[in-house]
Amino acid sequence: MPAPFIAKQAQLEAKIADWMEIAGRTLRVDSIASFSGHKVYALTLTDPAVPLERKRRCYFSQPHAHEPGTTAGMADAIEQLVTGKDLAGNATRLDIEKALAKAILTFNPIGNPQGREAAPVPCWDGSKYTNDQFWCWMRGEDPDNPGKMWKRLDLWDTRVERHPKRIGIVYEQIDEHRYVEPNRSHLSSFFKLFFKLDKEFRYERWLDLHQTEFEKSQFNCMVLLPIKGLAEGDILAEDAAWGQQVVDAWTRAGYRPQPKPVHLGYTGEQAEYFRKNWGELHKRMHCISTEVKNNAPDATPEFQMKAQAIAIEESIQRLV
Ligand SMILES: [Zn+2]
Repeated sequence: MPAPFIAKQAQLEAKIADWMEIAGRTLRVDSIASFSGHKVYALTLTDPAVPLERKRRCYFSQPHAHEPGTTAGMADAIEQLVTGKDLAGNATRLDIEKALAKAILTFNPIGNPQGREAAPVPCWDGSKYTNDQFWCWMRGEDPDNPGKMWKRLDLWDTRVERHPKRIGIVYEQIDEHRYVEPNRSHLSSFFKLFFKLDKEFRYERWLDLHQTEFEKSQFNCMVLLPIKGLAEGDILAEDAAWGQQVVDAWTRAGYRPQPKPVHLGYTGEQAEYFRKNWGELHKRMHCISTEVKNNAPDATPEFQMKAQAIAIEESIQRLV
């Protein structure tokens, strides 16, 4: 039986109800409400009998509504941590008791539920939309350039910008007129939820899960390190070693990863967004990102989900 692809808010909420029943005190559910009225969840798994100060602390998240394989992968990993089996019913390779005794593992499976709910498909498998059409769903269609996606902004206002008629699903509405790209503004639910939980748990690691199209690339997944200069010394060395562990696990599982983790390559305005929103975090903690192929016939739902689940499993194993 193929595993369910958990990507929509109702599917996630049904799973959370199941997980709460099975996990009991090892699962803590926090949430904040987005402007759209959706709950944005932080699911924390840990053994409450072991004091916090003895634990490793890792945050897992996904900011982009058009990258549902990240949610499916987190659901698969949480299912393993709660039930000992993945969503297809196969036994986990994780030592669950040890992981929950030694670590605090927090997951934000849907960073922007409003955007996710507006997506026309649960999974972008390349069967219905070309990449240009997909990108017009992502950022909206440029009113001055039909058929092409609109520009990429950290924060924008409908009263100021000549914007697409159908707003791109990557954006989260934060009040009547303003929208943000979740991982480029601390006004997003994505960042607000992280900082709320971080106040209590002071995370030492953050694995942020992403997808991209790998057009004309020989690779189908990769690990990204922070933009050059943001993480340095021992922090950067461990970021790279952690990323390499994920890359090696993908290779063993039959994926074609870029062989080494690489720095996020943005320059100019996009790099500025990252410096402003992530710069302090990169100096303090380990942050790496995955990118897994999206919107292509060779990137099946299972391919997308399992790549992200593998990255999470490796990150937990490295921690404990
Ligand atoms: Zn992304």
